[in-house]
Amino acid sequence: MSVKTNTLLLLIFGMQLLGCSSQIQDKSPQKIPVYAWLGGPGEATDAEILANFTDLKSKGIDVLMYNGGQAPTTYARVGKIAKSAGLGFEAWVPTMVQSIRPELKPEWYAVNGKGESAYDKPAYVDHYHFLCPGRPEVQKYLGNMYSKIASVEEVDAIHLDYIRFPDVILARGLWDKYGLVMDKEYPAYDYCYCNVCTTNFKVQTGIDITKVEDPSQVAEWKQFRYDLITQMVENLTKVVHRKGKRINAAVFPGPNSIAKKLVRQEWDKWSLDAFFPMNYNDFYLENTKWIGTVTKEAVESVHNKKPIISGLFICPNPAKKKLEPDPENHGLLPEELEAAIQQSMQNGATGICLFTPDRMTEAHWKVFEKAIYKNYN
Ligand SMILES: [Zn+2]
Repeated sequence: MSVKTNTLLLLIFGMQLLGCSSQIQDKSPQKIPVYAWLGGPGEATDAEILANFTDLKSKGIDVLMYNGGQAPTTYARVGKIAKSAGLGFEAWVPTMVQSIRPELKPEWYAVNGKGESAYDKPAYVDHYHFLCPGRPEVQKYLGNMYSKIASVEEVDAIHLDYIRFPDVILARGLWDKYGLVMDKEYPAYDYCYCNVCTTNFKVQTGIDITKVEDPSQVAEWKQFRYDLITQMVENLTKVVHRKGKRINAAVFPGPNSIAKKLVRQEWDKWSLDAFFPMNYNDFYLENTKWIGTVTKEAVESVHNKKPIISGLFICPNPAKKKLEPDPENHGLLPEELEAAIQQSMQNGATGICLFTPDRMTEAHWKVFEKAIYKNYN
C-alpha cells in the first residue's frame, strides 16, 4: 500500500471519528448507505435518465450498481449522468454467464455430469450459458472485458455477478417452479466435467472423477471447484485494481450455510473490496429474521474486515404476492421492509442494496424514507 493511500485512509478514519463524536453530541442518526441494482439504458434519452437518477437520489439512493451490457461507451455515457445527479456509479456485469456469440468458442462453456454443455443445453433456463472457469482462455477473455470497463473514468468500481457455478441445488423456494426435488446433487446440474477440468483434477489429486459413482461425496472435487471460482475472482481483482478501481460482487448468502452448497462460492476466501450477499429471504421460504442471521454469518466470515452490503429483494406487487406462484415476483412487502433493514444493520451490514428501485411501490418508499434515517446501533 502506498504512502498516499495510507494518508487517505488516516484522513477517512479521522473523519469517521469526527462523525462519531458529533453524532454523540447531537444524537441525530446518520443516513444508512443505500445501493441499488439497476439496468438500462434501453432507448432512454439523457434527459430521461437524468430525471430518473435525480428522483432516485432524492429518495435516498447513494450508489447505482448499473448493468448496461459490456460496451464501455455505455458506462461512460450513463456514468456521467449518474455523477451529475450526485450518485456513485459501479458497473454491474455478469461474469460466468455469457450469451452465445462468435468470439466465445463452444468448448469454453461448462459441461455437466451427463456430458451436456451449457453452450447448447443450459440447465433450468435458456440464458444459463455458464462458461468453464477452468479454461485459461475464459480467464483471459473476462479479464479483458472487465479491464476495458474499469478503464472508464466514470466507473467507480466493478460489480461481479453470476461469479459462480450453475446452482447444483436450487434455493428451496424455487423447487416448485421448476418441478424439482433437489435433496442432493444430481449430474444434470453438476458442472464442470469438461476435459480440461477433469484432466487437471486428475493431475492434482490422482482421482479420475469420471469413474466415481457419486462425485458429490468427493471432498477434493468440491474444493477443486470452489478454488476455480476463487482463482477467477483473484485474477479479475488484479485486473481491476491495476486500473485503480475497486471490485466487489453479488454473492449467495453464507458462505457456509448456502453459497458453497448451492453454487460453489467460497467467497470468504476472495480478496474483493466488498460483498453484496443476496439476502433474498423469499427464495429460501424465510422471514426477515433470517436476513439478520445470514448477515451475521457474512460479517463474521470476513472477520468484520470487509463491507457487507445486504441485498434486499422487493415485492413488485404486494397485493398479489399470496396468489403469485412465481417466487421471482415475491419479495419484501412494505410492512416487512423496515424489519429487513433493521435486521441487516443490527447484524453488522455496512448498508443495504435494493433489488430493485423499479420494484418499489409508493408504500415501500414511504416506509423506506423513515427506515434509512434510523439509528440501528
Ligand atoms: Zn471445465
